[in-house]
Amino acid sequence: GPTLFWHRRDLRTVDNRGLDAASEHGQVIPVAVVDPAVKAYAGSARSGFYYASLASLQQTYRALGTDLEIRQGDPRTVLPELAAETDAERLVWNRDYSKLAKTRDEAVRGRLPEAVSALEISDMTLHEPGSILTSAGDHYSVFSYYYKKWIDRAAPAPAPQPSPDVFVNRQAPDIGEIQASPADNLPLPAGRQAARDRMTAFLDGPIYDYADTRDRPAAAGTSRLSQDLAFGLLGIRELRSAVDEADTAAPTETAMDSVEEYRRQLAWRDFYIQVLDAHPETVSENFKDFEHPIEWRADPEAFRAWTQGKTGYPIVDAGMRQLQAESFMHNRLRMIVASFLTKDLQLDWREGYAWFREQLLDHETANDVGGWQWAASTGTDAQPYFRIFNPMTQGKRHDPDAEYIKTYIPELQGVAPEAIHSWPDLDQDRREELAPDYPDPIVDHAERREETIEMFERARGG
Ligand code: FAD
Repeated sequence: GPTLFWHRRDLRTVDNRGLDAASEHGQVIPVAVVDPAVKAYAGSARSGFYYASLASLQQTYRALGTDLEIRQGDPRTVLPELAAETDAERLVWNRDYSKLAKTRDEAVRGRLPEAVSALEISDMTLHEPGSILTSAGDHYSVFSYYYKKWIDRAAPAPAPQPSPDVFVNRQAPDIGEIQASPADNLPLPAGRQAARDRMTAFLDGPIYDYADTRDRPAAAGTSRLSQDLAFGLLGIRELRSAVDEADTAAPTETAMDSVEEYRRQLAWRDFYIQVLDAHPETVSENFKDFEHPIEWRADPEAFRAWTQGKTGYPIVDAGMRQLQAESFMHNRLRMIVASFLTKDLQLDWREGYAWFREQLLDHETANDVGGWQWAASTGTDAQPYFRIFNPMTQGKRHDPDAEYIKTYIPELQGVAPEAIHSWPDLDQDRREELAPDYPDPIVDHAERREETIEMFERARGG
């Protein structure tokens, strides 16, 4: 009987290790399952991007003389049924590391008919969680040590695309019959080709200035490949080998340093995935142990102001409004708004995480939890609790001309950068005069900073 290959967060046929492994066993039928349990967490932008990417994968398979079988429902029931229907001998998928995925995949394995074997392949990372360990045999919780080993490892080569003859010649219902076409209003073009185009555009030049531009949100100098990695529109080996080629072609020493800096970000991704793999519970629990629970506030109004970009801290509001407008936020802003939520508003990082999970196109459990726990000082290698970002200083340093801020906050259009960066410190009359429609600060940073340090010291049992 044929082998079913189950596509999840790997919506491509190139550099797909699981698919390559499946093809070694004879005839393959590719499958995807639209799972309501996963969909429940996604806002409309991410769902739309997912469906459009599935549609594009289906076209790819049609061009290969086969089809993508798209089913809707709980994989625990859908896949055993499909295996019986198609007389499959085998079900193959690429390993995922979140708690939800691990629990689901175990259950699927357990419910397959006896004649069907399950095979899980490692594909998502450059270096599989557990393959880079401390001398004590533990996973790493300090990035710089992890990175030293990571960068010394040879990068694995991309996996080949299986030959068209391994696929069963068949037709499946169009995704349009399962999910009404979602392709309009996407914040970014979806599908494999769009991801390839973004990759090529970045590696053709912008990567050589990355070290310089990556912390200036107005420059938009980052690769914008996070959703493509999250959905697996690009293979990580494929990206890494293209980056290594860009390294070889780098025109200057500085350009090479920039490529190195970019590679380092890919290591962060592997790093957080190995943390999540070792500690799946950190999706909802602090990584660090505290003596007493941290006394986060309950303040729905402040939370709402944060989500709407109406805190009266311009750099924070600009980031939150970018998220609303584009389903994306620049990394520097993610750090700033996460710090503001946890340290200035003193709200639980899990509230912020839930908002990001719904809103972000590129939501990915390991990176999202990793980023939040870093900012909240509860994670691996986290920001120390006493080193609290000052939003005014952050704005001045990373958006000196307030260009990024003005892109997202029309109320501040005519205001001078100096006034914008000291907005919370201006007299109320002055604020009223400069930008009557932009809110006053909802908290006092200096006061909250002191309180937050005390809050953490109490939690630490000091
Ligand atoms: P680039 O700078 O071009 O980086 C290239 C790639 O490297 C990214 O696509 C990503 O895969 C990886 N990467 C970069 N920075 C990090 C990082 N700090 N940690 C882990 N991987 C990284 N990233 C996500 O992919 N999904 C998330 O849900 C997510 N949530 C975050 C939440 C918070 C609070 C914070 C502080 C960061 C989060 N990040 C997340 C990490 C980072 O902000 C994004 O990966 C990045 O902004 C995506 O833009 P880019 O592709 O242009 O990045």
